[in-house]
Amino acid sequence: MLKIRSGIGYDIHSLKRGKGLYIGGIKVSDELTFVAHSDGDVLIHALIDSLLGAIGEEDIGEKFPDSDEKYKDISSVKLLKEVNSLLKKKNFEIINIDSVIIAQKPPLSKFKSKIIENISSILNISTDRFNMKAKTREGLGDIGRGEAIECYCICMVRS
Ligand code: ZN
Repeated sequence: MLKIRSGIGYDIHSLKRGKGLYIGGIKVSDELTFVAHSDGDVLIHALIDSLLGAIGEEDIGEKFPDSDEKYKDISSVKLLKEVNSLLKKKNFEIINIDSVIIAQKPPLSKFKSKIIENISSILNISTDRFNMKAKTREGLGDIGRGEAIECYCICMVRS
């Protein structure tokens, strides 16, 4: 019997001056970085949580605890690859993923196609199965002041 399931994920990390900011595994700034135990890649973290939710697994914080030194400064791409293997092991296939990144800075639109290509290739899906919108907060609140970046992600899988 065909089973279709959906999952939702959300993440936020604050920003500080630093040597590199990665979103979707792509470097989008040389002057900023995330305040995080790992690389703080909000898109990949929200995406991982949506996939784990869809396949009925514990969330990213439980699966990859930040109290574990193994995950300190780890590239989120590695974690996403692990989650994708788990998905395959459980015989799930990704139908589609949609995401919204809200960032006042840096401007993300010019990196959009690179990010889409990178995530699709990590997950082994065609680029039309992963979508991403880059929005600003119109200058409002903490994100509008450029203090943080957040991301929402939703996915559908089938088995
Ligand atoms: Zn995170």
